[in-house]
Amino acid sequence: MWAGSGARPPTGSAGKAATTKYLGGHSDITGGALIAADPAVGELITRHVGMMGTMAAHQEAWLVQRGIKTLPVRMRQICESAQRIAEFLDAHPRVRRAHYPGLPGHPDHALAAKQMPGGFGGVVSLVVEGDADAAGRVCERTKVFTLAVSLGSVESLIEHPARMTHCTTAGSALGVDESLLRLSVGLEDCDELIADLAAALEAD
Ligand SMILES: *Cc1c(COP(=O)(O)O)cnc(C)c1O
Repeated sequence: MWAGSGARPPTGSAGKAATTKYLGGHSDITGGALIAADPAVGELITRHVGMMGTMAAHQEAWLVQRGIKTLPVRMRQICESAQRIAEFLDAHPRVRRAHYPGLPGHPDHALAAKQMPGGFGGVVSLVVEGDADAAGRVCERTKVFTLAVSLGSVESLIEHPARMTHCTTAGSALGVDESLLRLSVGLEDCDELIADLAAALEAD
């Protein structure tokens, strides 16, 4: 475990993964993992981490290990619900565009289907018909989706990138549509999630 997944491995072939999101899965830790293909590189990383004191605290490490035990079953349900939600949004008259790699109309749907045969993940985004304020009102009205910027948890979250995660990118090449909303689909009943979005979209 490596506290701060942005850190680079010292040498050789290694990958990194955030444990903050789906691996932990419950919005209660931040952390990351470094994964080495070569055991010698793994040994070097372990020694380096020990010397630097950047290993995860025991509570976080334990919560990640516990989260991993339910990862497959959480991901199956999350992917199934996200697919249904994306299809619902794609057909909704108050949604200009729904983005989800599981939608056949997504430009990289074929590639995603090859890379992700088990499902297309839990992040769905939508461009609301109307301006930034209209999009903001949708986030404020949801009751099952909590207004917060994280993702990958058992709870469903909604956020407004232009005003939250991406507020510093306006006007740059990285800027996002001001009416874009991002969802992180969790484990609540999918019919309730869809009803929550329908009510929030249709109130204006
Ligand atoms: C994603 C996220 C971070 C950053 O975590 P990484 O492991 O670096 O991806 C920090 N805090 C919260 C609440 C997050 O959702």
